[in-house]
Amino acid sequence: MSLTIVGSVAFDAIETPYGKTGKIIGGAGTYTALSSSYFVDNPQLISIIGYDFPEEYLSMLHKHGISTEGIERVADKKTFFWSGKYHEDMNIRDTLATELNVLGDFDPKVPESYQNTDYLMLGNLLPSVQRNVIERLHKRPKLIVMDTMNFWMNTMLDELLKTIRMVDVLVINDEEAKQLSGHKSLVKAASRVLKMGPKHLIIKKGEHGAMLFSGGKIFYTPALPIEEVYDPTGAGDTFAGGFIGWLAKTDDLSFENMKRAVVFGSAMASFTVEKFGTEMLQYLDKKEIRKRVVQFSELVTFEMPK
Ligand code: AMP
Repeated sequence: MSLTIVGSVAFDAIETPYGKTGKIIGGAGTYTALSSSYFVDNPQLISIIGYDFPEEYLSMLHKHGISTEGIERVADKKTFFWSGKYHEDMNIRDTLATELNVLGDFDPKVPESYQNTDYLMLGNLLPSVQRNVIERLHKRPKLIVMDTMNFWMNTMLDELLKTIRMVDVLVINDEEAKQLSGHKSLVKAASRVLKMGPKHLIIKKGEHGAMLFSGGKIFYTPALPIEEVYDPTGAGDTFAGGFIGWLAKTDDLSFENMKRAVVFGSAMASFTVEKFGTEMLQYLDKKEIRKRVVQFSELVTFEMPK
């Protein structure tokens, strides 16, 4: 099935206790598209870049079968730049710079060739921009998945709620779920958020895994215990790419298959954090991914004595 992803394509500069990068390729759209490319042959990316974005990065995306027809290049502006520094406890991150540049006036255009997309991933962007993409599609996709963040909850909640009402799956982290719902208990938070419109909710809990809430059922997967996390940047976006990539590949929206999608998303995220930026995501193979999914299943399977 066809898959379209909307999200930032950026320059990132990252510092963690393990080291520091210069300007490298980043952006939520980049992580999600790369991750999904291991499941779908031709993920279609919608984004915006400036004059300074190197051709070699676009070639790298093409090598993964990613269509960049929907990436607009602005001739007189710079690419979005984000920089972050992680603390010893890598759950804490300071944003050092957010230079919106081209992203400041991102008005996504949907190429004709993307029009009949079956699956749509809306990366974290202005809620009105996310909504524009849905409205510019001639046909509603079979499944729309949306990521967002607390910043939009603080600054434009009404706009955000309007967009949330239009999607099938919302992916947020535990703090965001608590803030959006006003409940401290994740179970209560989930049932409140599900009343806002989406049929399914995924709550990411960072190194503690992810939960899927759908039709009164709950599924939980831990994150794979990893000895050294080098750089958590993009883990959530990578998760989203694995999740929707698996669903687009299998075209099965049953709860059982969504559970598998959550595990594939978690497996993909576990690779991303093992090196800086997209370094791991660029060089995976399908066998390694399968192997990691088996590790997940071994982690949580047990037998009860008779
Ligand atoms: P995450 O670690 O999941 O928060 O994702 C990090 C990625 O999000 C980085 O590659 C950034 O380039 C990108 N990013 C950071 N801030 C924004 C923003 N305001 N809009 C879009 N993308 C962003």
